[in-house]
Amino acid sequence: MQQRIVGEKKEGGRFVISLDFEINWGVRDQQTLDQYGPNLLGVRQAIPAMLELFQEFDLRVTWATVGLLFFSNKEEMLTHLPYVQPQYSNSTLSPYLALNNVGDDEAVDPYHFGYSLIAQIRDTPGQEIATHTFCHYYCLERGQTAESFRADLEAAVQIANEQNITLRSLVFPRNQYNAQYLAICADLGITSYRGNENSWIYKERNEEQQSLYKRGARLLDAYFNLSGFNCYTLQEIAQQFPYNIPASRFLRPWSGRLQSLERLRLRRILSAMEYAARTNKVFHLWWHPHNFGVNIPQNMAVLRRIAEHYKYLKATYGMESQSMGDLAAELHHHVPAIAS
Ligand SMILES: [Zn+2]
Repeated sequence: MQQRIVGEKKEGGRFVISLDFEINWGVRDQQTLDQYGPNLLGVRQAIPAMLELFQEFDLRVTWATVGLLFFSNKEEMLTHLPYVQPQYSNSTLSPYLALNNVGDDEAVDPYHFGYSLIAQIRDTPGQEIATHTFCHYYCLERGQTAESFRADLEAAVQIANEQNITLRSLVFPRNQYNAQYLAICADLGITSYRGNENSWIYKERNEEQQSLYKRGARLLDAYFNLSGFNCYTLQEIAQQFPYNIPASRFLRPWSGRLQSLERLRLRRILSAMEYAARTNKVFHLWWHPHNFGVNIPQNMAVLRRIAEHYKYLKATYGMESQSMGDLAAELHHHVPAIAS
């Protein structure tokens, strides 16, 4: 069946993918390079492999990139830091206090620079470079303010502009979504962000409030249908601006240890995609490139299964792959917001 077009409205659901591209800036306070270094280095193989697959299947993907990755050397990085920096109560959260651990350039320090990878992403059709804030900014942590958030986002917009990139979409680091900062985002040109899954187990929290219980529930939810499909209608998404395009599912890295559960994990994703295609809803899948940094062949095989399922749903129901920026642009032009 061809894609059905009813007036302006396309049916068949949307498949949105967003990736949090951060290398060490996203994990530096939680993992050491000894523990997690192989995953971080593996990003340099995983990203080209993903880009090739995205092209093969015409997948349009949002790359929410940490601003600090845009540089090719430290000198350039240091001249672009925001004029107000977050003063977290927990100072280990601030990357600015650890800049002496950053090497001179991308060749000597592949953990903290991403200039060449950003160039590859830009050169691949359909890929959107978006923002994951400048410094991997934590919007719910004590000590930071709206003023330091604005300065952070301005620094991200500035370096992107210098590289002829317009930032339109945003992913809040650690999914610490702060409603009070949305006006600042809109001010700086952001049209959509990725909200959290609409279930209590995914509710945004700062690090101190994350309970083990909730982490356990999220792990189980990857395999069993605890929280539902987490798919959303265009009308729901259009209710506020910047648009909230909520996550449906985190693509967990392949695990040899949990291999017997791997089929359940994949089935949970494929059935939610199918549900979105049948009911004309949005299915939004996300992960980090470093999740694919080890076991790359196994992770790519899972991604290929997902891409093949998308191809089938596109042929059968007219499902469409869209970046967050594509979806926001379409909503802006075609879907009137429902008064709430
Ligand atoms: Zn992150």
